[in-house]
Amino acid sequence: MIQEEKQELKQIIQSEIATLSTEIATIQTALKPIKKDCSLDSIDHKMLKQDQNVNIQRYEVAKVRLNRLKAAYLNIDSKEYGVCQECEEDINIERLKLIPESKYCVSCMNELGL
Ligand SMILES: [Zn+2]
Repeated sequence: MIQEEKQELKQIIQSEIATLSTEIATIQTALKPIKKDCSLDSIDHKMLKQDQNVNIQRYEVAKVRLNRLKAAYLNIDSKEYGVCQECEEDINIERLKLIPESKYCVSCMNELGL
């Protein structure tokens, strides 16, 4: 991987981290405990609960991705970064731009069923 590509990937990772951090903060605000509101009937309350569950799932997904991106960022200057952990071939740069935290090339991902 050439230096310019690394630089570009670093920027991509940084902006993804910023986006995810904002998203996590937004979800956290939305996840404030539901206050008992007498004006809500039980159906409204049920829908609120469902919303909460969706938010919890989004929150978990975002947090996992954030951790992976942070790890990728710390790892980007190492030799292992951008190399498939399965076949040890270089991971396609276009793929890394889309998913900078990739640890496997596309064919290994498919083979491993990831
Ligand atoms: Zn591979």
